[in-house]
Amino acid sequence: MNHPLHVGVLALQGDVREHLEALLRLGVDAVPVRRPAEIAAADGLIIPGGESTTMIKLARNFDLLDPLRDRIAAGLPTFGTCAGMILLADRIIDGTADQTTLGGLDITVRRNAFGRQTDSFETDLALTGLDTPVHAVFIRAPWVESVGPAVEVLGRVPDRADLGPAAGRIVAVRQGALMATSFHPEVGADGRVHELFLDLIRTR
Ligand code: GLN
Repeated sequence: MNHPLHVGVLALQGDVREHLEALLRLGVDAVPVRRPAEIAAADGLIIPGGESTTMIKLARNFDLLDPLRDRIAAGLPTFGTCAGMILLADRIIDGTADQTTLGGLDITVRRNAFGRQTDSFETDLALTGLDTPVHAVFIRAPWVESVGPAVEVLGRVPDRADLGPAAGRIVAVRQGALMATSFHPEVGADGRVHELFLDLIRTR
């Protein structure tokens, strides 16, 4: 690719501005997207954190379900964070009765998994591709209950007894052009997780 990367942030609901700012700090062309033509023009897409049930309903209302599913299936590099991870998951535990997803990632997510113990949770964790741990902020976050054979696990909650049922849980994954984290890399000034996604776009 010899033009500056053009990365869309799905702008239906949630942490849109924070992702745009994180991308702009990395020097790429970052734009909010909510129309099929805008999605078609993007080199990569971020689906932010927020509320997955609201976001999927808005995607349906905006006639974006098929355009998003088609682009994702056709290989659009896409990074889902928190609610965005839920939207990319093929299967949800503890979703609402009628909750659907965009799908693409062969994972089962447990929605509000950390929320049972505490609404938000922070820890440092090691991530494949980063030299030093990243500070991960989880806000009513899902974790990944199980992954299919094509999924690469990029990160887990440290496996420490004091972390209770969260210990060792999968919280970052990649499958082909799709990447997802349970935590919010747009919080704080560490741009390295976004940079991993930009690398993924550049190598497609
Ligand atoms: N609990 C939210 C959901 O189910 C996700 C929370 C978040 O994205 N911060 O969609």
